[in-house]
Amino acid sequence: MSGVSSTQFRSRLPEATVRIFSDFDGTIASADVGEELFRHFCGDAAFEEILGRWNAGQLTAPEAYGQLCAAMGEIRERDITRFLSSYAIDASFPRFVQWCDERRFPLHVLSDGVDAYIEPLFAAAGVDVPVLCNRFELRDGRAHMHFPYYDPRCPDIAHCKSNHVALLARDEDIIVYVGDGRSDFEAAQYADMVFARGALETYCQEQNITFRRLYTFSAMRDQLDTMLQQKTLRKRRRAEVLRQQLWSRG
Ligand SMILES: [Mg+2]
Repeated sequence: MSGVSSTQFRSRLPEATVRIFSDFDGTIASADVGEELFRHFCGDAAFEEILGRWNAGQLTAPEAYGQLCAAMGEIRERDITRFLSSYAIDASFPRFVQWCDERRFPLHVLSDGVDAYIEPLFAAAGVDVPVLCNRFELRDGRAHMHFPYYDPRCPDIAHCKSNHVALLARDEDIIVYVGDGRSDFEAAQYADMVFARGALETYCQEQNITFRRLYTFSAMRDQLDTMLQQKTLRKRRRAEVLRQQLWSRG
């Protein structure tokens, strides 16, 4: 899987483009696979207790994930493989990736989940797309996590997605963001067009962020095609200013 470091300079693509960022859990996969994985291996009681303290702001996201890993007990790769056998990604996502490739629209998956389930689910669907996410490691039967994209600016999420949006986007780009949950709230502010479901939809309404409801990736592709034909996919001034501010801050 080809990752892109947030320390990389801004894109060198010669032309303005539509640049698409998508969340994984609850978005590309209809289930929140990460949440269900931790719930499954930690047990309901431990999971709820840690999640409660995370939601109450008593734990940062890396602290919460650290405690979840500890609560998982002994775990092996085959346990994860077995757990994942009942999960799959949106059946229309592979075709969406192909559509982005054909149009040369860069697509990045930004997840606050972990590679341990994202990579196998993409591989099972034959999808090859850049993924930026937290890292999961099994050492002697114990789970550990690494957070290459944590930013203390956003302590309640382990992966600060907005940094990628600001760093990877060129001034001319139109940014499309796709997501469903709280790990997308901040990043969505930096997008020109948001496709949202769930909590992100409510957030966009409250924050007056232009959005469309996300159904499937094929429905979204059709809507983007129409917007491109009608030239209604445009920049959002407030998002543009925010991107410039975040980028110049470094
Ligand atoms: Mg999500």
